[in-house]
Amino acid sequence: MKLYALFGNPVSHSLSPRMHNLCFKNLEIDGCYLREKLLDGKDLKSRFEKLGLNGANITVPHKEIAVSSCDELRGIALDIKAINTIVKEDGKLIGYNTDAPGFLRAIKSFDSPQSALILGAGGTAKAIAYALRSINLEPVILNRSKDRLESFMQNDFNCFTHDSFTPTNYDIIINTTSAGLKDEFLPAPEKLLDILFSNAKYAFDVVYGHVTPFLKKANEHKIAFKDGESMLLHQGVIAFNLFHGKRLNEAKIEESMLKALKLSS
Ligand code: NDP
Repeated sequence: MKLYALFGNPVSHSLSPRMHNLCFKNLEIDGCYLREKLLDGKDLKSRFEKLGLNGANITVPHKEIAVSSCDELRGIALDIKAINTIVKEDGKLIGYNTDAPGFLRAIKSFDSPQSALILGAGGTAKAIAYALRSINLEPVILNRSKDRLESFMQNDFNCFTHDSFTPTNYDIIINTTSAGLKDEFLPAPEKLLDILFSNAKYAFDVVYGHVTPFLKKANEHKIAFKDGESMLLHQGVIAFNLFHGKRLNEAKIEESMLKALKLSS
């Protein structure tokens, strides 16, 4: 049996084990996906080897430090320098970022936005910023404070804090902050969001499982919106296929993972 795991802290709430294990069952693959709480990201490689894993996913707060456990990074992970997937290949640990392509698949139903504003400047913002840049859509980054904008500025992204920002028109507004995850906060001042939404076509929130204050506000403005469930789904589909040498039918993986997500809602 091939073994996989999710590493993070916390991991108890994660839907990934259910998504991957239902795929193993439905696609008749002899595999099992574990949930592993990891306190110190530096211990990732030794835990991976000790458990005899074939692959892993990495979640908050270890996506950046996980890079140091890899022998090689591939694809957009080379730009983002944060990974959420490791595949063991010929004894080497290969790191990927599937949040970025997962996001692009999640917004496919929106009709090709031409301009984008990202709220937040954490790891998820970075994955989404590079994902958009990869399709030649240069996003603007808006964060409440300055420090985390530094690495975006070094990589030539156009960045603002709430204080320095003058709103213009953006087709899509993406919330990558954790505002609304466990509270009723908006990710930016209400007046600013009202201006942004009065000119936008789409809103996307990476938080999933409930309608956040950000999405409620988008709804007030009658803007098409999506929560983060489809991004979670697609990052999982892409990771599962990477675990199996990209040989599987992604439609079948998606069908099983979607079923797993519906079981939990
Ligand atoms: P980080 O901790 O790296 O970044 C958090 C960001 O949120 C920072 O920019 C921070 O601003 C900002 N922030 C936090 N609270 C507020 C607030 N009250 N108002 C305004 N800004 C705020 O987090 P991640 O990027 O790792 O994760 C962000 C979210 O993305 C999480 O909710 C996570 O669950 C979700 N996620 C969803 C995925 C999916 O598949 N749907 C995939 C990956 C993540 P500051 O710099 O000022 O502190």
